[in-house]
Amino acid sequence: MSGKQNSAVGEQSPAGPKKATKAPKPESRLAMIRRARRINRELAEVYPYAHPELDFENPFQLLVATVLSAQTTDLRVNQTTPALFAKYPTPEDMAAAAPEELEAIIRPTGFFRAKAKSLIGLSAALRDNFGGEVPGRLKDLVTLPGVGRKTANVVLGNGFGVPGLTVDTHFGRLVRRWKWTEQEDPEKVEAEIAEIFPKSEWTMLSHRIIFHGRRICHSRKPACGACPIAHLCPSYGEGETDPEKAKKLLKYEMGGQPGQRLSPPPDYPGKPAPTLGEAE
Ligand code: SF4
Repeated sequence: MSGKQNSAVGEQSPAGPKKATKAPKPESRLAMIRRARRINRELAEVYPYAHPELDFENPFQLLVATVLSAQTTDLRVNQTTPALFAKYPTPEDMAAAAPEELEAIIRPTGFFRAKAKSLIGLSAALRDNFGGEVPGRLKDLVTLPGVGRKTANVVLGNGFGVPGLTVDTHFGRLVRRWKWTEQEDPEKVEAEIAEIFPKSEWTMLSHRIIFHGRRICHSRKPACGACPIAHLCPSYGEGETDPEKAKKLLKYEMGGQPGQRLSPPPDYPGKPAPTLGEAE
């Protein structure tokens, strides 16, 4: 753990005789790209087990879980989908669902009426237009009801092995904190970050960033004092810098707590999430 700042991002001089100091030079694009790639490498060491935090067994389950994950946690989705997939295992089954029955199952994920409509609509579209299979192309996926670019990229990256950047709220916040981009619009963020990294890194980079955002670099209280990449971060100090206090802010396996998946991959060092109804 290091709280020291990289000179490229504005190192503070130790206290000493006062002399006129020059304002630090703005970071060049090349230096920013090198720093960005280094952050990615260091995050890969911190989170070698980074993975999608939705439980799924096939592309259809991943698509449904991703649609349900809007405005809620992956944990809540994972606690809800076992009953959903038991009742509606295929697009044909879900397309034929009675809306109120499907709504009752997905209710814990919030916005359940709109989500039920999307799930029935996208299942019908899969049945009618894609032979009951989830298509493996962005341009087809975004034609499905309730499926935008972000959802499509999650499905492509994790269901089909097609590289994709997942610009969710964590991704956007962290890349702006790291000064990789100033864009706010997710599509513009995606385009700018795509210029910095080779395609082969996109999917794992997305998982690592989202892992870091959920565990350490939180929206309101980033745990800067416990952050392993603080020395590469121009926003160090935006959150708690006291190491002991920062440690208390860590979440999931970093804080010794359960993760979000009920069935995490075997290399996940944390505990599985509780099922719905178990103590959380
Ligand atoms: S926790 Fe603090 S130091 Fe670490 S990446 Fe976030 S803002 Fe930067």
